[in-house]
Amino acid sequence: MVSNEQCRITVARGDGIGPEIMEAALHILTEAGARIRPEFIEIGERVYSSGHTSGITPESWAILRRNKIFFKAPITTPQGGGFKSLNVTVRKTLGLYANVRPAVSYHPFIKNKHSNMNIIIVRENEEDLYAGIEHRQTNQVYQCLKLITRPGCEKIIRFAFEHARRYGRKKVSCFTKDNIMKLTDGLFHKVFNEIGELYSDIEKEHWIVDIGIAKLADTPEMFDVLVMPNLYGDIASDMAAQIAGSVGLSGSANIGTECAMFEAIHGSAPRRAGKGIANPSGLIHAAILMLLHIGQNAVAERIHNAWLKTIEDGIYTYDIAKGQASVGTMEFAYKIVERLGEKPTTLKPVSYPQSITPITISTSVEITIREKQQLIGTDVFIRNDTISASELGQQLTQAVKPEFQLIMITNRGIKVYPGGFPETFCTDHWRCRFQMADETSKCTPQAIRNLLELIEGAGLFWIKLENLYTFDGKPGFSLGQGQ
Ligand code: NAD
Repeated sequence: MVSNEQCRITVARGDGIGPEIMEAALHILTEAGARIRPEFIEIGERVYSSGHTSGITPESWAILRRNKIFFKAPITTPQGGGFKSLNVTVRKTLGLYANVRPAVSYHPFIKNKHSNMNIIIVRENEEDLYAGIEHRQTNQVYQCLKLITRPGCEKIIRFAFEHARRYGRKKVSCFTKDNIMKLTDGLFHKVFNEIGELYSDIEKEHWIVDIGIAKLADTPEMFDVLVMPNLYGDIASDMAAQIAGSVGLSGSANIGTECAMFEAIHGSAPRRAGKGIANPSGLIHAAILMLLHIGQNAVAERIHNAWLKTIEDGIYTYDIAKGQASVGTMEFAYKIVERLGEKPTTLKPVSYPQSITPITISTSVEITIREKQQLIGTDVFIRNDTISASELGQQLTQAVKPEFQLIMITNRGIKVYPGGFPETFCTDHWRCRFQMADETSKCTPQAIRNLLELIEGAGLFWIKLENLYTFDGKPGFSLGQGQ
């Protein structure tokens, strides 16, 4: 990806309005002198219906892996079961761990709620509830696993700080819900503090996600770069794009160690397809992010300033014009090309340093933490919809004597035994915590197998286990509300 060489990129025209906005974006890239060599692949609706449940063929995977840079128009995800989200599959398969989403207001030319908004949300892209590990456990209870890993946190948080530094940003804000999820979100916050120490030139702060998003909606000018786990990032970035007045205008980058994907944040807008009226701006902004990623910063700057000038000159597609005169997709692209080399006068022109190199964070993140992991007990989840908490508690206490002690039972995380209130609503899903009755005897996998046999012997049905470990003596599990 040396700046003077042509960079091979994989291009997908997508579905719905995809082919129209891609034609417009490629025209601008060519006219602006982008040194790119597109190689086209087909993804989406037609590929799904030809039997590929993830919307992409093995041949296209090979091209994507070879070219490493993917410029993608939106696709239509078929309704109904069996089809996987192509976006999620591509992100995870190619290790695109960072989703970068700028949200900018173009006041007074595009109506919005905030005149002074210019933020970048860096969303973790591979972990959290998006691991897709879900199970139905009983008649009443369904579960989704939230996975947060130390290497995952380190990569995304380092990326956010590096991104801030490279683009002259002053502050990185982290959003989590670690007052409730003390271990998972707690880890994200902890790693944010650890890595933040290495960036003394950048201001940092942490917000609990609920009030953080409320503040972001109210006073976005307080924020600069934001970093957060996957789900919060998904919600915050759509909200931010909407209040910037620019859902149809925003592009996003999905960055990995080897590969990267660039796309508009909107979908394929099937109702607008084939009419030549769709706004290509989201994909143009994605193209600008792609040019910055491959080191063609001067071309990115030319296109970005020409786009700002076009907006400033009142040239809008129908969605922005809102009843005023509007232009079609290609006409909008031609107007941008006419303005290549010009800068806006009211809106702030962009200026990208000529020497920016792409951010690469090693995947072999150095893990210095090697704490001693020790098994000290287990949570056994039991299905039962016929007995009360106290009956279950007494039955289990008797069944596991004298080797084990029943420490507590919770239902949906609330302690219901010993003690507990009759008002607490209970489902058919009970978490029963056991430890060795004699504190000096060691808990082993064999001891846990014995425990399960004792539970089965009492005629109770266990669904799953979650073992309790300490790490260097500190509990690696939540203690349960009500304790
Ligand atoms: P959408 O973003 O396609 O459309 C939402 C609204 O915004 C519609 O009124 C549409 O007309 C308008 N709109 C969107 N982009 C526009 C543009 N460039 N110019 C003018 N108007 C525009 O969202 P949707 O209707 O929920 O989804 C349609 C399809 O897109 C679905 O199949 C969905 O799964 C898919 N989708 C794909 C992606 C992707 O490929 N990255 C992202 C989101 C949705």
